[in-house]
Amino acid sequence: MVIDSDLPPSRAGSLPLIGDNLALDFANTESGRGFASHQNHLRDAAKVLDWLDHARALSPDQAQWLRAEISARADLAADLHASAVELRSAIHGVGVAIGRGSEPPQSSLASLSAQYARHINRASLKLETDACGWRWSVRDAPVEAALGTIALAAVELFTEGEFSRIKECGGHACGWLFYDTSKNNRRRWCEMEVCGNRAKQKRLVARRRGA
Ligand SMILES: [Zn+2]
Repeated sequence: MVIDSDLPPSRAGSLPLIGDNLALDFANTESGRGFASHQNHLRDAAKVLDWLDHARALSPDQAQWLRAEISARADLAADLHASAVELRSAIHGVGVAIGRGSEPPQSSLASLSAQYARHINRASLKLETDACGWRWSVRDAPVEAALGTIALAAVELFTEGEFSRIKECGGHACGWLFYDTSKNNRRRWCEMEVCGNRAKQKRLVARRRGA
């Protein structure tokens, strides 16, 4: 059994945001799925808020209000945590399939549509400076206000994004996703300094062994 205290500390509040897309960055709060190095940074509702605050998916005021609320209401904390994990899993399921050039699983698509419907149902269209946008009242719909922008970003990406630019990092046991905005669409790594260099080292060692 893995006990939380045995795990390296969660980096929900400091993870690199390299996905060039809010939904993909959210999927990247987990890495190394299926490997011994697996890491899940969203371990409870407070960690979900740490990430939302860090990624500016919530305003500091909203985050602060929600933080007080989840420590007082266990049901709200449980709903926020479970919904976040479910949304992350749906985004990852669809994103990773597209990145590998395969068909997204029906279960991930169904889960993403259900969550999108839940969140949008509690939003209202508001006029900003020169466009309308979906806005939530954190007091009336706390979970939807917390996760709604991520669900919107995911649906927008999967309906309007270029599939050839949705990619999974080529690093071993990484699994992070990103939207490749480079001119020639040849980005391969989450971060060159992490997975890119690791792969380069591996190639060097293999070459030396061969020589
Ligand atoms: Zn990587």
